[in-house]
Amino acid sequence: MTDLRSNEECVLAALTDSGKAMSAYDILERARSNVLKAPVQVYRALQKLERRGLVHRVEALNAFVACADDHGDPHRPGFVICRDCGEVREFEDNRVASVARKAAGEGFAIDTVSLEIYGRCAPCGAA
Ligand SMILES: [Zn+2]
Ligand SMILES: [Zn+2]
Repeated sequence: MTDLRSNEECVLAALTDSGKAMSAYDILERARSNVLKAPVQVYRALQKLERRGLVHRVEALNAFVACADDHGDPHRPGFVICRDCGEVREFEDNRVASVARKAAGEGFAIDTVSLEIYGRCAPCGAA
């Protein structure tokens, strides 16, 4: 029943290898195998990986990145994203959560806080 590599492992490997944000379809292109061949399998694997904190969704790109940490705890980082090369760097700052709580106000049930910073990375800016 269990394959040599689970769908999650294949999906995570595709993301880790690319080092960039990828849509579920990009991931499927890269990780396609006899076992992993339908978008729904990729989405299911991404969901599981996200719950384990190994993968993050970049909301505005509708894409996913491998977590840069290896602690594997669920966390919700912010991202710095280069528009030119697609490099995505995650960062964590507890102040983001407290700014969000303050902005949302009492009684507002926050389900997602996402901070995505777009621009051009140093190598792309220098090119
Ligand atoms: Zn992370
Ligand atoms: Zn760049």
